[in-house]
Amino acid sequence: MESIEIEMECEPLPKGNQKVCPFCESEYVHLDAVEELHPTDDYSAYRVTTSRTGASVSITSTAEPVKTSFRGNGVCLVQSCEEGHRWKEIHGFHKGFLFVDVQRLPDAEIEG
Ligand SMILES: [Zn+2]
Repeated sequence: MESIEIEMECEPLPKGNQKVCPFCESEYVHLDAVEELHPTDDYSAYRVTTSRTGASVSITSTAEPVKTSFRGNGVCLVQSCEEGHRWKEIHGFHKGFLFVDVQRLPDAEIEG
């Protein structure tokens, strides 16, 4: 498979701009996966998920559209904190507006 490399030049991120967990306010937040929602015409979309475990990247897609509360494009950022909370930050386009919502997912098991 052919790979595409994209170089990005970035300034260091400003201190104080860390995302915090919306449930416990921990600053130790991980970005676990990105879901793209490719809409159909009836409040549903095909979901393409890109996630990474170690050096392995996987890309999966739903075979059928999933229900959405918006009709345009969407992106979900699947995140977790080191206390085990998991959630999706949903960005969905609908009738000229971009809506943002947080959906809590089942907590992860913490080994300890
Ligand atoms: Zn948390």
